Amino acid sequence: DETVIDVRNLKTSFFSKKTELPVVDDVSFSVKKGETLAIVGESGSGKSMTSLSIMRLVPAPNGKIVDGEVFFNGKDLVKENKKAMYKVRGNDISMIFQEPMTSLNPVYTIGEQIREQLTYHQNISKREAHQRGIEMLQTVGFSRASEIMGDYPHRLSGGMRQRVMIAMALSNNPKLLIADEPTTALDVTVQAQILDLMRKLSKEYDSSIILITHDLGVVAELAERVVVMYGGQVVEEAPIEDLFDDPLHPYTEGLLQSIPKIDSLQERLVSIPGTVPTPDNLPIGCNFVTRCPYAMEICRQEEPRLGDKDADRRVRCFLHEKGVMSDGQQPRTS
Ligand code: SF4
Ligand code: MG
Repeated sequence: DETVIDVRNLKTSFFSKKTELPVVDDVSFSVKKGETLAIVGESGSGKSMTSLSIMRLVPAPNGKIVDGEVFFNGKDLVKENKKAMYKVRGNDISMIFQEPMTSLNPVYTIGEQIREQLTYHQNISKREAHQRGIEMLQTVGFSRASEIMGDYPHRLSGGMRQRVMIAMALSNNPKLLIADEPTTALDVTVQAQILDLMRKLSKEYDSSIILITHDLGVVAELAERVVVMYGGQVVEEAPIEDLFDDPLHPYTEGLLQSIPKIDSLQERLVSIPGTVPTPDNLPIGCNFVTRCPYAMEICRQEEPRLGDKDADRRVRCFLHEKGVMSDGQQPRTS
């Protein structure tokens, strides 16, 4: 299968005075054509920074990609100049965010914004752009699309705005769509509609998606493969069924236990005690050691490496590193 994007050993840090704080630390993964890859983790795990790094939108001047490559369309995006990246973001990689209000300009109508985007990136007239805009809005489920074109963003509900954003994101037929918490701000019914829509469109356009979310329920709906991040690092990667059936990393196990029940959506079954350490407060050894129920002595001294478990599974944990668990040694469940 054709690989659309190949991220290798990506490292992004924030610099303050003399300290370097890694927010993305040696992250690698790739996405194939038509595939949906989810990047999962709690807030602060580095998942959004990973996507911003790919798009070269790390907040300057303090944030900086310090290492690694992002191969896309035969080029390393890390080395591309600003102008080239502007083009990539408009044509080849699109992004949708959690709160579409921040990406839509409140003082322009939906139509003005869609037309502006289309005429900027494609060589078409205003009239054609208007027609395309209406079609796009119909594609994402608006029956009265021409009316929507004349509306200002605040006139629309959150779910409608997110559908507008999806329409705009897909308008240039991007090879890759990065969706960062696309349904988090929406209520449950609307969430389901948006997920349905994304599923339908990704099939129809055969587009690749990187889905960034803290919500494994959303992942189960949409993704084929999952990368779990913690403390800026990839701690596990697996096909979706394997991850749910047999999570290898203790953090993944914890996340799975904290999926809300269908009948009590606001309540977490079990939440992982503690919080994600901030980049300036990472523990020595394994980043997860402060919250891990299986932590061993070695976990407090050395950093586990991300190792291959199977052809399509990877995990970063001493429980799965050969030679670490000597005969008879059991993980302590402290
Ligand atoms: Fe837990 Fe140790 Fe594995 Fe880290 S390396 S997840 S602390 S068992
Ligand atoms: Mg985030």
